[in-house]
Parts: sequence; C-alpha cells; structure tokens
Amino acid sequence: MDSSQFREAAHTAIDQIIDYYENIRDRRVLSEVQPGYLRELIPPGIPQTGEKWEDIRRDIEAKIMPGLTHWQSPNFLAFFPANSSYPGMLGDMYSAAFTCAAFNWQCSPAVTELETIVLDNVARLVHLPEEFHSAGEGGGVIQGTASEAIVVVVVAARDRYIAQSKANWAAEGLNEDEIEEKVCTLRGRLVALGSDQAHSSTKKAAMIAGVRCETIETAMGDYRLTGERLTAKIADLQARGLVPFYLTATMGTTPTCATDDFPSLAAALAAHHTPTSPKIWTHIDAAYAGAALVLPEFAHLPATFAFADSFNFNMHKWLLTNFDCSCLYVRRRRDLTDALSITPAYLRNEYSESGLVTDYRDWQIPLGRRFRSLKAWFVTRSYGVDGLVAHVRKSMDCGKAFTALVTADSKRYTLVAEPAYALNVVRVNPPPGSVTAAEDGLEYGKRSNEVTRKVAERINREGKIFITSTVLGKGEESVTAIRVVGGAPGVQVADLENAYRVISDVVDAVWA
Ligand code: PLP
Repeated sequence: MDSSQFREAAHTAIDQIIDYYENIRDRRVLSEVQPGYLRELIPPGIPQTGEKWEDIRRDIEAKIMPGLTHWQSPNFLAFFPANSSYPGMLGDMYSAAFTCAAFNWQCSPAVTELETIVLDNVARLVHLPEEFHSAGEGGGVIQGTASEAIVVVVVAARDRYIAQSKANWAAEGLNEDEIEEKVCTLRGRLVALGSDQAHSSTKKAAMIAGVRCETIETAMGDYRLTGERLTAKIADLQARGLVPFYLTATMGTTPTCATDDFPSLAAALAAHHTPTSPKIWTHIDAAYAGAALVLPEFAHLPATFAFADSFNFNMHKWLLTNFDCSCLYVRRRRDLTDALSITPAYLRNEYSESGLVTDYRDWQIPLGRRFRSLKAWFVTRSYGVDGLVAHVRKSMDCGKAFTALVTADSKRYTLVAEPAYALNVVRVNPPPGSVTAAEDGLEYGKRSNEVTRKVAERINREGKIFITSTVLGKGEESVTAIRVVGGAPGVQVADLENAYRVISDVVDAVWA
C-alpha cells in the first residue's frame, strides 16, 4: 500500500467506523455466532499475492462484525464499560504511525516526557495526593491493564520487603550466608492479601511472583474490607508462621463496587508496623471506579489514599480513553526501578546514566512500549475537565435512574448492595405468594437465586441488552444477583429505563 492508496483506504475505514458508531444502537449487542464460526469464513493460509484493501475492508462487515459483542452499544450493561472516543482513536492512530518502541528516554524523548506530564495532569484531575506526583519521589506510568499494574507492584512489594528484611538482619550482625538462608525461608512464607471481593488479578500476580495469596472475608451486604478484619488476618498469618507483605485494597470492587474502609486499614497497618519492621505494601485498585474521582463530590476521597504505596485506575474503563490505558501511580518510584531495572550493555546511554531522565522500561514488565499517553492527552484536551465530569456524571445519573426504578418495584427486585459508581446489583424475588423472606429464610434465598439465574440467562439469550450476573458469599447463604452498569459514552437514562422494561418482561415470563 503506497501513500495515495493509504489515503484512500484510511478515508473508507474512517467512514466505516463513523457509520458503525452512528448506527450501533441497531445492532444486536451480543454476538450470536457459535465457537469456530470464523474458520468457515476465512480461507486457511496467507494469499500468495497481496489483496486489495477494498476486499479486506468488506470482510469487516461480512466476517468480523457477526462475531463482535458491541461494547460501545447503549445496550451493553455488562462487566464494567470499556470506553472509546474519537480523540482516543486518533491517539492510537498516531501511536501506530510513529511506532517508536520508546523503552528509554533516548528512544524518543517526547514519548517519555509526554507520559510524565499527562500522568501528573491526570493525578491532579482525580485529586491524588502530592506523594503520587512526579515532582517528589513518586510518579505515574501507563500500564496496559490493571492486572499488569498489580503484577508490577506485587513484584516491587516482594523485593522491597526482602530488601528491608535483609537490611535488618545485616544490622543484627548476621553474615551473608545466614542472610541468604533466611531470605530463602522468607520467600516461601510471603503472603499477598486482598479481600474476598478484590479482583482476581491479585491472585494472578501472586502466582506470577511466586508468593502465596490469601483472601480476607468481608461482611455480606457490606463487602468492604475493614482494618479490624485486616488486623485479625495478620494475627492469623503470624500464628501460622506466614508473612503478609502486600495488600490490595479496592475502590469499587468488581461484584458490587464496594469501597474498602481506607482510614481503618491505614490505622491497622500503622499499628502493625514498627519503625524498623519491613512494610506491608498497600495498593489501591480503583480500576473502574477511579474515574469517578473527577467528580467534586468524591474529591475528598483521595486524601484517604495517602497511606498507600500505589494506586491505579483505568482510563480505558470509564474515562473515554480507548483500551489500553491503565494509570499506575507509586509513592516512591525507586521501589519500582529497584525491582525491575536491568541494564544490558546495549541499553546503556549517557542520558540514562545521567539520572536526569525517566526510563519507563524500568517501571514495567516489557521492554518496548507504545505511545499510549498520546490518546490520554488527546482525550483530556478534547473534553476538558468539564467534558470528563459531564461524561461520568451522566453515567451516575443513569445508575440513579435505574436504582429508582428497581427500588420502586419491590415486588420484583431487591437491591443486594448499596448502588455505587453507576452500578446496580439486584436479585429477582421469587414469584409472589410462593415463599416469603420473613418466614422461609433460606428457601426464599434459594428460590431467588434460581429465578435470578434464569432471568439473567434468558436476557442474554434474547440479546436486547447484555448484563452480567455475580454470586456473592458462599454456601447456602450465597446470593446470585444481576449487575447493571451503563458507562459507555452513548448510554442515556432512557437506555436504563428500557433495560428495566426488558428485564421486567423477562422476570414476568420466568415467574409465569
Ligand atoms: N480490578 C478491578 C476492580 C476490576 O474490576 C478489574 C476488571 O474489571 C480489574 C482489576 C482488571 O482489569 P484489567 O482488565 O485492566 O486487567
């Protein structure tokens, strides 16, 4: 493809993309294809001679579209949103055009310097404490996903804990061999912690880092990790000879958007740490809900993050920036570079050695990296603070409209958690007159779970809207619930009203 062919092809691609967005409401939100569908549509092998763009482009509609679930559809109310916007797409387009795998400053100074500036701006946008800005010892870096951010901090937490332990043993007068022996024992006892509501990425990070992982139970209906429960867990681990070194605390858990009790966690950790003890690293995972910190009513919350070592939120979930753009902030960037820096001869250069520049390769797992700050820059400049606030506010209004409808319809629905950050989590009641919550306790819960599961399955089979279900708690008292969250840019209050009607029609059919 030469320049003039690219110009023409790009125009047709852009037109197709705009048409897709303008008519997305008309598409069935969930794909209906069966596993393996694409093998029948795409001939095996690469063509011997190159094909025309027009033939390739035509296959987008014919072969790819049928297998897409439309995350940008206003009828997509599942998982958490994965926002997209035109400025975000333009950022990715330029990133692809420049394709500079800027692993260190010298590779493309603009890539590094824009990332630092944009992340400081975003830190101010979400009111993060000064500790996490680059002016001091902290700073931000863009990771692909929250899961990658958590792997990075678990590795840094592990290495910091071991380094602090080694320093203590050396101060006690142990020799190198004795310290090494102790490190080997310690490694097998390290435990990463998160609540039973924390995202599974903490478990995965622990698997990758080769450490144990345990969960701390939260109270049914509340789902928040508290300092009291953390203290009890630490005592339990110590009694078993295990060593907690890392904690994921969450703002906006995946099942219900609960937010852990940060002040009491801070107090519990302060009580646990002595001036010389190695420190438990606390990471605040706000993958989805962190975007809500742009709203003035939540601006007080980040002050309660000041005890944490790191924080992340995904601009690619709810802040109009196309996947992938997970912002990770650390209080002390040295903690990352101590754990992740390795410099073979070919990466040495005068700028890195001067200590005056940031080499983001030392803040992440891969070496190469994309120019992801471009899309965050385009989005924040195009929307401005007011536009970003308006976007999140609209989703919150949608969530509140849905809450009002289900709350007024106590015959059909029971909210199982406090609605938060535009997410509603509801269970469907058993058919009226069959059992009562007051008299039939466990049986009522069982019937409610059955009917909720059937309703969720039938809604997604029908495909008018797409929702996800979740299971809270364990055993006989577990609760099956439907999660409804409308955070895509195109979602309006009317879409949530429509969702309420679609769900209610299915409830009536399942009850009948
Ligand atoms: N943390 C929370 C609270 C989440 O809800 C999710 C995903 O929804 C993740 C982490 C993982 O996100 P990612 O896909 O960016 O790894």
